Amino acid sequence: MHVVEHLIAGEWTAGGDLATVIDPHDGTPVSTAPAATPDEVAAAVAAARDAAAGWARTAPAQRADALRAAAVAVERSAGALARTLSSETGKPVADAEASIAAGVGTLRQYAELGALYGGRTLAGDPGALDFMVREPRGVVAAITPWNDPVAVSCGLLGAALVTGNAVVYKPSERAPATGWRLTRLLAPGFPPGVLSMLAGAAPTGAALAEAPVDVVAHVGSSAAGRWIAAAAARTGAKALLENGGSDPLVVDAGVDPVWAAGQAALGAFANAGQLCVSVERIYVHEAVAEDFLATLVKEADGFEIGPLVDVRHRTAVHGEVVAALDAGATLLTGGAVRDGPGAWYPPTVLSRCTDEMRVVENETFGPVAPVVTVGSFDEALRRAARSAYGLAATVLTGDLDHAQRAWRTLEVGTVKINAVFGGAPGGAAHPRRDSGEGFGHGPALLEEMTATKVVHLRPVSPADGGAGSPGRG
Ligand code: NAD
Repeated sequence: MHVVEHLIAGEWTAGGDLATVIDPHDGTPVSTAPAATPDEVAAAVAAARDAAAGWARTAPAQRADALRAAAVAVERSAGALARTLSSETGKPVADAEASIAAGVGTLRQYAELGALYGGRTLAGDPGALDFMVREPRGVVAAITPWNDPVAVSCGLLGAALVTGNAVVYKPSERAPATGWRLTRLLAPGFPPGVLSMLAGAAPTGAALAEAPVDVVAHVGSSAAGRWIAAAAARTGAKALLENGGSDPLVVDAGVDPVWAAGQAALGAFANAGQLCVSVERIYVHEAVAEDFLATLVKEADGFEIGPLVDVRHRTAVHGEVVAALDAGATLLTGGAVRDGPGAWYPPTVLSRCTDEMRVVENETFGPVAPVVTVGSFDEALRRAARSAYGLAATVLTGDLDHAQRAWRTLEVGTVKINAVFGGAPGGAAHPRRDSGEGFGHGPALLEEMTATKVVHLRPVSPADGGAGSPGRG
């Protein structure tokens, strides 16, 4: 069993108030982790503040080298890290290995981009030098979820560290040993205090969000994100929020219903439905609904998934399915809690759903495909657009006019036409409404982790006493 420790000011320290994480495959204990107290949070933030100025002055190429070395360390231990990740969260080992490889790739990408990331000169008075420079923001609190813990953490930590920020990292209480092992691999390349790690649940995260940091970067649920945004508003920190989604999938008339059902199954059931961009609700045109549903049931019955993250989460997912059935939905497959240890839940298909059902309205975050049959593409688009969330959406259509209308109409960060997953490297979007705020990925994340300073540098001129015009003001 892993015994997780905090990393504060370069020292690994045991903590109190231990919580045990249970393997959702079979109910055995995997790890035990302490909860950082407000004093420990304050100590980590103070150490980060002390270390930040020196790290900010370190040459960007040297910071990039540290990140490259960290990427090699994570890559070398990827097998062991994947087993820990799998046993804490239920993600199948092969999927865990793939997501760690993605995290390593992200670290390398930020090492390359960070060393090249600069400002620009301005066309000012030829006697002066005017330029814009990107500076690190200072201390970044990085608070991360369990559902893709290594890939998500590598993104935030890589972008923050390479641009010269010190980081206090709080991994999810549902994957503490994964975060701890990752930190053990990353931290040796950085001066003490530049990267600290605190274990703990929401109270530790809340203490960190209320601490005197410069950025609070949170990837997680919308409710926690809203709380963090309020805390950041009080301290003056910048909040960077990548939160939940209730992504719609629209299936137009005229598409191959067998292909569309394959896309729907992949979107709804991959990672047992525990992806921020999982398909959470499906609007299918009545012309293809019957064949689509029949194939979706077959796909669900053949789809191999791991368990949900824990029994508490399974209870929440099953509760939404039961509530939908009580409200008139039809269960086509799945929907039953199996006896025995672990947190298993089968791929589930519901038809005759309505927008008022929680399973359609909320982010269920489980392997559930709620299907709403609609009479027209316009109706599907209208209903897909109506959500408190604004993360992503997928539309399956062979009609170019419908595709154009879809991407223009849907007020979400990411629109995918004819593929539930995919997109070019470097893509980043602004999530809308309850889904968050700011760029969470790609080169654009470097902008979030830095602030721009504009400098006007001019020699003293005896003729005018050195004064220029006041400019904007
Ligand atoms: P969560 O918000 O419950 O927890 C995430 C982190 O926030 C954890 O470290 C937790 O301890 C901390 N936390 C919780 N409450 C807090 C508070 N009040 N103050 C400070 N910290 C707090 O989310 P989760 O259940 O771990 O993750 C699943 C959610 O993450 C889903 O909603 C999913 O859509 C979202 N997610 C979004 C993205 C994205 O890029 N948009 C990516 C992955 C996951």
